[in-house]
Formats: sequence, structure tokens, C-alpha cells
Amino acid sequence: MRVLSFDIEDWFHILEHEPTADVRAWPRFESRVRRGTERILEALARHDQRATFFCLGWVAERCPAVVRAIDDAGHEVGTHSYAHEMVHQLTPAAFEADLARSIGILCDLTGKPVTSYRAPGFSITSRTPWAFDSLVRAGIETDASLFPTWRMHGGFRGAMRRPGWIETPSGRLREFPMSLSSVADLPVAGGGYFRLFPSRLIHTLMRREPYVMTYFHPRDFDAGQPTIPGLSPLRCLRSYVGVPGGFAKFERMLRAFDFVDVREAVRRIDWSRAPTMRRRAGRIGWEVIPASPDARRGLRLAATG
Ligand SMILES: [Zn+2]
Repeated sequence: MRVLSFDIEDWFHILEHEPTADVRAWPRFESRVRRGTERILEALARHDQRATFFCLGWVAERCPAVVRAIDDAGHEVGTHSYAHEMVHQLTPAAFEADLARSIGILCDLTGKPVTSYRAPGFSITSRTPWAFDSLVRAGIETDASLFPTWRMHGGFRGAMRRPGWIETPSGRLREFPMSLSSVADLPVAGGGYFRLFPSRLIHTLMRREPYVMTYFHPRDFDAGQPTIPGLSPLRCLRSYVGVPGGFAKFERMLRAFDFVDVREAVRRIDWSRAPTMRRRAGRIGWEVIPASPDARRGLRLAATG
């Protein structure tokens, strides 16, 4: 099973960078998200593929046409928060307010409930167990925020690496973690690694996995975007490596594989055989309760069904 997803935000929505951090400064920057998203939608139409678009509430407010175009084309609209703040830097109350604001804006635009969420920077970590509970209470049914190893802005070491359940005091949440290649333990199906590695290598690594979660941003393919001032050489490399050839590489991937959006992935998985992640007794750390032995086979079967 291969899931296609995008985080719909602009070129200046990068994390932990003081010159672009203040939401009040964002209206001063040139907006490129509308054209970037339209280009992605055109490619998906050419290749008859469906995706989930995790949209920033702030972008939806400024460019409602972007969200309407995504919805009109039959793709899923999920939320990527309102103001792109990292979950582990927010209080539970601030997180819930930001989440509710983004859901309200997106619901108003599409007339549909918003049931899928991805945190900015995959920033739900083992230190923010309350976030899952907040998501369930806000009506979110599916989360895609876990990055199951160390990461610059987040990461949840020891988290499950396949779709499964997360237990919260308010009920269960379906989780679609970011997928890591079992060869390199890297997220080759998204972001910087996708732009850095050659298509052949990425496709070979993707074919090995029963579960692939992709993630892209419009800026991954936007060679005309301004350069963000003040980035370190490493962050410059991570932000801009491979951008000029990124869109052609993305289209090669669409030609090579069939993808589904999160909604369809939920339908295809046999959830009775999925693993469950929950806090340990005594609330120290987390544990993943494995699925039945044939769960992995079930995922494979579902991927071909
Ligand atoms: Zn983001």
C-alpha cells in the first residue's frame, strides 16, 4: 500500500527559523502556494491518482481557492494546524485552539468534516501524549504525525512503523506513521531525501516495502521560490537540494506506482489485525502491542486488493 500526501503550506513555512517565524510577518511574503498546488493537482489528474492534502489553516484563510480546488478534484482535505507551530512547543490548550481554528476554516470551505491530521514537522513526540487525546476529541480519526525515529523537529523513537491504532483516554485513533526504508532507515518517499536520491534508487527502495507513506510540499518542486535568508548551510541543502528536478522526479514516481489517499487506505486495511500503541502502565513510556502474526500478510493482501 502506498499513500500519497502533501502538506499545503508556502515556501516560508519552515520551522525554527526566527526571520520567518512570526505569523504576523507572513502576509508580507510573496505567496506561491496556489500555483504550486495547482501544478500538483494537474499532475495528479494526468496520472489519475488521489491524495490527502494536509492544509494549513492560515493558507486556507488567505487562499480559499486552493482548498476548494483540492476538494473539487476529489482529494481528501486534512489539517496541518492553523499556524504551523510545533506541538511540543504548545500547551494542550493552545494546541486545541489552533487545531479547532484550522478545522473550522477547512470545514467551512468544503462543507465536509475534517478527519485527518498531520503535525507540523512531525512534532508529536513521546513527550506530548496529550496530543492524541486532543485529536480524538476534535473529531480527528486518522493521524499521520508520527516519525518513528530521531528527527530534527520531532520524531518518536520506538513508535510503530506500520498503520495501527493509538489508544487515548477519549478513544482510539488510526495512525499512519511516516514510512522509513527498511534498508536505509530513511524517509526516501518525501522531502529532502526524495529530492536528493535518484529516481531508480527511490523506486527500488519503495518496491521493497509493503507500506509507503509519501509526503511532499509545493515548495519541493518550486525552482522559482525565493531563498530564505539566514539559513545555515545544512538547512540550505535540506531545503533546496534537487528542487529544480523535483517535479519531473515526482511525475516519474506517479507513472511508476499506484497510490491511494488516507481515506482509501483506511478502507483497505484490516484494522482488526493492526498493532496498537499505548502508554505503558504507570504512564512511563509507550509500548506497541504487535498485531497477530499474519497482520503483515494482511497488509500485503490489502495492498493488492
Ligand atoms: Zn509543514
